[in-house]
Amino acid sequence: MKHSHHHHENDSSKNLKVAFFLNFSFTIIELIGGIYTNSVAIIADSLHDLGDTLSLGLSWFLEKYSSKDRSKKFSYGYKRFSLLSALINSAILIIGSIVILYKTIPRLLNPETSNYVGMLLLAVLGMIVNGVAVFKLKKGSSLNEKVVAWHLLEDLLGWIAIFIISIINQFIEIPILDPILAVIFAIVIFYNAIKNLKPIVAIFLQSTPLDVDVNELETKIKNIKTINSIHDMHLWTMDSENHILTIHVVLKGKITPTKVKSVKKQIRKVVYSMKIKHVTIEVEEKNEICEYNDC
Ligand SMILES: [Zn+2]
Ligand SMILES: [Zn+2]
Ligand SMILES: [Zn+2]
Repeated sequence: MKHSHHHHENDSSKNLKVAFFLNFSFTIIELIGGIYTNSVAIIADSLHDLGDTLSLGLSWFLEKYSSKDRSKKFSYGYKRFSLLSALINSAILIIGSIVILYKTIPRLLNPETSNYVGMLLLAVLGMIVNGVAVFKLKKGSSLNEKVVAWHLLEDLLGWIAIFIISIINQFIEIPILDPILAVIFAIVIFYNAIKNLKPIVAIFLQSTPLDVDVNELETKIKNIKTINSIHDMHLWTMDSENHILTIHVVLKGKITPTKVKSVKKQIRKVVYSMKIKHVTIEVEEKNEICEYNDC
């Protein structure tokens, strides 16, 4: 159902808590309903809602935790904890969707009948709950709100599909429609989980952040007048928002305190303009031997 990732306001913690409990109860109702009506499509959809519930719960939990100040043990703070939770969530969805495919594909060969009236009632409930959420969020215009609205719309479409097959089955029984829908749901869940997993893994592997053009950054720093050359530049990101840069710069001519101060100031200006919040600069003279030339 509901999805949220970036929160900056203080009352967002309360919103997250409410959204979490709503999603959690709905997931339980859906899972029990899916088992009771013998509908694999509804069970598959409850996996999706479980994923939403988990990500809400983790955002709620981490809202305070991951913004906690750094400690001696975690000198960069706790920002990566949210990344870890996103990783766990993706793993649960990937494993869950594989389990559902494994259980559902045999049903394509031997379709079982479901309780279509029960499915219809659940679908109506699902459409109401998700429809209200879409409607409430429609007012928002920020990028994140749009992403959330799009997600909610997808959830709504899922319930509309369940609604349609339960209506069809009131008139003619086509039991295979239910496992077909379940397979589609599971594939969508799997696909989205892999799509979300990719950037998370890239961050863990310390790739450069997606929103920084490394060549542009290099050029801008090299263009600073007092800089002769740069080396040992490392750029990575804590959590896709907090980027960290370390760099060695070789100055033209002799090092003087004034030169160092001014060059640091200019580098910081370039770096902050490119959304990099944490920078460490080492200043060198031209014929200085540096063991970090290519590491
Ligand atoms: Zn959802
Ligand atoms: Zn160096
Ligand atoms: Zn290095």
